[in-house]
Amino acid sequence: MSFYFLFSIFYFLFGLCAGSFLNCIIYRLHIKESSLKGFSHCPHCKHRLSWKDLIPILSFIILKGRCRYCHQKISLQYPLVETTTGLLFLSIFIFQNLQGFNPCYLFYLLVISCFLIIIFVYDLKHYIIPDKVIYPATGIVFLYQIISNIQFPWTSADGPPKGLHFGTNFHFQTANFYFLILSALGAAMFFFLICLLSRGKWLGFGDVKLAFFMGLFLGFPNILAALFLAFLIGAIIGLELIILGKKKLSSEVPFGPFLVTGTFLALFFGENLINWYINLFL
Ligand SMILES: [Zn+2]
Repeated sequence: MSFYFLFSIFYFLFGLCAGSFLNCIIYRLHIKESSLKGFSHCPHCKHRLSWKDLIPILSFIILKGRCRYCHQKISLQYPLVETTTGLLFLSIFIFQNLQGFNPCYLFYLLVISCFLIIIFVYDLKHYIIPDKVIYPATGIVFLYQIISNIQFPWTSADGPPKGLHFGTNFHFQTANFYFLILSALGAAMFFFLICLLSRGKWLGFGDVKLAFFMGLFLGFPNILAALFLAFLIGAIIGLELIILGKKKLSSEVPFGPFLVTGTFLALFFGENLINWYINLFL
């Protein structure tokens, strides 16, 4: 077995466990409990859960989707979020390897994907994107973009040149960074206008903050791919829900899940999609 294969399994299992923790955060964010303190318990009977009840996916299968103590149904959200996080961690690992392995960037992508999964599920369930999630996520991306735009002379040359000292000879790629901020502001302004025009009916202010985050995270032109995909998927699913009679044209549908899906698709396939689109006109 190759190391690559072993690492792939590791990232999938790591994702499953992370997903289990994200479920816990999503639940406790809603009831405003600290997600780090205290034991996990069944939301119905409040019985404290043992380790046997907390194994990602396996517990759900063994318990046939019901609580061991009160036999109430466990929400499908739990195994779904665990599996999705597992697959996402695996995809990020594979994607990062294709790009040339960079452990810092890999870790950064894993952390950001956790924030995005929380936003996806929370907005879908409660129709709101919590500030407690979107602000730290934006802060992390902002810091990462600042650090990754600092270019030390010896990262571009072969090793550190003699006589250069840390802090005196670095170069900040100002234009790059300003371009990211402009992408973020552009995306946020676009959403703010839709939010104003529809008086918050089509999109909420949470979506404006999420659009800012996406612009900063993806940069230009990837942000365009993400927004295009989000609107496309949103339209297809929205239409389907109306045809199936589950929603009316006037019903509120959370847009955060579509934006998150667009962000992930643009992260993995954005460049290919944009190249394909440009080639249509060449
Ligand atoms: Zn129970």
